[in-house]
Amino acid sequence: AKSNGRGRYTVYEHSLEKVAQERMKMQQALKNAIANEELLLFFQPQVRQDGSQFGAEVLLRWFSPIFGFVSPTKFIPLAEETGLIHSIGEWVFNQSLHCIEQWQKNSIPFKGHLSVNVSAWQFALPAFADDIIRAVNNKGIKPSSVMLEVTETGLLIDIPDTIQKLSQIRKFGIEIALDDFGTGYSSMAYLRDLPLDLLKIDKTFIDELGKSDHSPITESIISIGRSMHLSVIAEGVETLEQSNRLAALGCHIYQGYYYAKPMSEDDFVAWLFTHNHS
Ligand code: C2E
Ligand code: CA
Ligand code: CA
Ligand code: CA
Repeated sequence: AKSNGRGRYTVYEHSLEKVAQERMKMQQALKNAIANEELLLFFQPQVRQDGSQFGAEVLLRWFSPIFGFVSPTKFIPLAEETGLIHSIGEWVFNQSLHCIEQWQKNSIPFKGHLSVNVSAWQFALPAFADDIIRAVNNKGIKPSSVMLEVTETGLLIDIPDTIQKLSQIRKFGIEIALDDFGTGYSSMAYLRDLPLDLLKIDKTFIDELGKSDHSPITESIISIGRSMHLSVIAEGVETLEQSNRLAALGCHIYQGYYYAKPMSEDDFVAWLFTHNHS
């Protein structure tokens, strides 16, 4: 709220009510966002230690004519509360497949895979694995050209069910990354049982790198990953120093502003042409 003028007290008194109203307006707007073509995929490159393309994470963007740019940290939780996450998640996945198909058709030098975020609510649906597999088959693209990023919250609700779904998806040829690793209530016992391919270190841990000589959490995550034969991705790498530190610790894949910010499809395609060495 603004700190000048008389309005400030009114804003304060009505703030809770206003917040609730604002949320309802935003929910309503989000409901129409797909149909109104207000949602857009952005892409953030993921690179290997030698700088070669590993792939890109798909990050959803909402440009609302009413609210302007809304961060996914705001509208994804809203979509989860309202159940809209199912149609939005499906749209993101299909749109990602569509991009891969188009890039192939147009000989865009895209070599890795698109990594798509999956909400716990989507993952919990009984048909989740079948739907993913059907969508990829219908598009006729290689399963290895997509990857899924899931969070612990999504996986630990029903472990046997999770194992079944993950196995089905991996058998089909889609790799799975455990996102935001270390931020939830991870249990090593469960982790051992889950069929995964990659661990993703959360940005909060990467932020600590370089601030001191010791980075016990990042070190542990990388060594857990290595001993379980999982590739490790670091997100939110912003400096050369962090990158060097991660390399010294044996991290496999890097993502962050130091390499590239999330970009529109046009910008990403241009990036692909300038980073075309395998
Ligand atoms: P996330 O999956 O942990 O994604 C990483 C976030 O870190 C992204 O924020 C990305 O833009 C940001 N980031 C990457 N590198 C850097 C860096 O070097 N510095 C800084 N400061 N930030 C960096 P973004 O795009 O705002 O997305 C936020 C969250 O929203 C994501 O966190 C993810 O949980 C969720 N999200 C985004 N798109 C989707 C989607 O399509 N489906 C679902 N279910 N969730 C999504
Ligand atoms: Ca992610
Ligand atoms: Ca993440
Ligand atoms: Ca994160």
